[in-house]
Amino acid sequence: MAQTPDPALFDKIVNLSKRRGFVFQSADIYGGFRSTYDYGPLGVLLLRNVKDQWWRSMVQLRHDVVGLDAAVLSPPAVWEASGHLANFTDPLVDCRECNERFREDKLEDPNTCPNCSSTDSFTEARSFNLMFKTHAGPGEGSGHEVYLRPETAQGIFTNFMNVLNTSRKRPPFGIAQIGKSFRNEITPGNFVFRTREFEQMEMEFFVPPDEVSQWYEYWRNERLNWYLNLGMTAENLRLRDHESDELSHYSSETADVEFMFPWGWDELEGIANRGDFDLTQHAKHSGERIEYVDSSDGSRYVPHVIEPAAGATRTTMAFLMDAYAEEEVNDDTRTVLHLDHRLAPFKVAVLPLSKKEALTPTAREVFDIVSPLHMTDYDETQAIGKRYRRQDEIGTPLCVTVDFDTIEDRAVTVRDRDTMAQDRVAIDQLVGYLAERLPE
Ligand code: ATP
Repeated sequence: MAQTPDPALFDKIVNLSKRRGFVFQSADIYGGFRSTYDYGPLGVLLLRNVKDQWWRSMVQLRHDVVGLDAAVLSPPAVWEASGHLANFTDPLVDCRECNERFREDKLEDPNTCPNCSSTDSFTEARSFNLMFKTHAGPGEGSGHEVYLRPETAQGIFTNFMNVLNTSRKRPPFGIAQIGKSFRNEITPGNFVFRTREFEQMEMEFFVPPDEVSQWYEYWRNERLNWYLNLGMTAENLRLRDHESDELSHYSSETADVEFMFPWGWDELEGIANRGDFDLTQHAKHSGERIEYVDSSDGSRYVPHVIEPAAGATRTTMAFLMDAYAEEEVNDDTRTVLHLDHRLAPFKVAVLPLSKKEALTPTAREVFDIVSPLHMTDYDETQAIGKRYRRQDEIGTPLCVTVDFDTIEDRAVTVRDRDTMAQDRVAIDQLVGYLAERLPE
C-alpha cells in the first residue's frame, strides 16, 4: 500500500486482472482492439459493486437526490448548447519524422517527439473534437448526424424541468446518473484509466444561487469521504484545487479527488461549480423556460449547479490497486486483495474440504443457504490451501469450509481473509453470523 508511486504495481494489476478474470483486452482473439476492455466474471461484480455503492450513498440514503437514466445517442443541438461542439477539443500535433500523433498539452517537451526523439518535427497544433459522431436512420450527411454522449451530465440538464415537474423536489436537490460515455481520446492508455468507452457516475446538484459556495464545500468533503469510507487508504488520496488556467469553459471552481496511481497522482473525480451555465445555455438554445418558480411567493431563479463527476471504470481500477498486497506467511508469499467487503466480487466462498461425495450434499446445502443473501463462490477442486490462496487473491472476505466433522456436528469453519483466523460456526447460526460480519 504505497504513498509514493509504485511503478511495479501496474503490471501486477494488469496480470492479476487477466489471470483471474477481472478485465480482458477486447476482441482478444482478433489480436485485441486497442485501449478497449471487457470486464470478466470478477470484474463485472467489482464494477457493479462500485456503482451500487455510489448509488446507495448518492441516491438511496438521501432524501434530496433522485436518479435518471438518459439516452446515449443525442442530437447536435444538445452539444451545440453545452459548448461541446466548439470547445470539447484537444490540441493535436503530428511528428513529421515518425508520423506519430500526440496531445500537445501532454508533451513533456513541446519541441521533442517522445517516440523518435526528433526535434522541431511537429506540425502546427490542430483542434481535435473528442466526440464520436454517427448517423441515425438510413440517411447520411447533415440532418442525420447524432453523437454518442461524451458525458452523462447533459442528459440531466436537458431533463431538469421534467424531473422538477414530476419528482416533488425543489432546490437544493440533485439528479444522479450512472452510464457509459464515449470520447475519441487521442492518447488513451494506462490500462482502463483512459479509454474511449468508459462509465461515469455523475450527479448534478441544483441549488439557490446564494447557497452555491456552501454546497461546493459540502460536496468536496462528501466525495472524498466516500472513498475513505469504502476503505481506500487515506495517504493514497488527496483533494487538489484547480489553478485558474485549468478550469473548464463552464466552471468557476473545481477540485479533483486524486489517487496515487503507479505513475503518480492522477484524477479519480472532479467536483465542479458549474454556476448556471448549462441551464441557461439550454434555455437559450431550446427556447424553453428552464428555471425554478417558488410557489409560495412567485419568485423565480435559475439554479446553480455543483457537479461531482466520477469515473466508475477508473475508480474500480484504483480500488484494485489500493487493495493489492503481497504478504509473507510461513515463509511463503500470499497475494491478497484487502477490498472492503461491500466491494469484494464474492463475499463468501463455500469450500468442501475435499471433493469426496460424502461432503457434496452438505456443501451444496450451505451454498443454497448463503447464496440468496450474499454473492457466493463454490469451489471443490484442488488442495484447500490453494483454494484459500485463490480466494485471498480475488478478495473474498470469508471462506466457509465443510469438512468431515460437519456431517456429524452440523458446524462449518469460517476463515477470515485478512487475519486468517478461523471460527467454528453451527450451520443454523451461519446466516446471522455472516450478516454481522458483512454489514451493508
Ligand atoms: P481528463 O482531464 O483526465 O481527460 P476530465 O477532467 O476531462 O478528464 P471529466 O470530464 O471531469 O474528466 O470526467 C469525469 C470523470 O470521468 C473523470 O474524473 C474520470 O474518472 C472519468 N473519465 C473521463 N474521461 C475518461 C476516460 N477517457 N476513460 C476513463 N474514465 C474517464
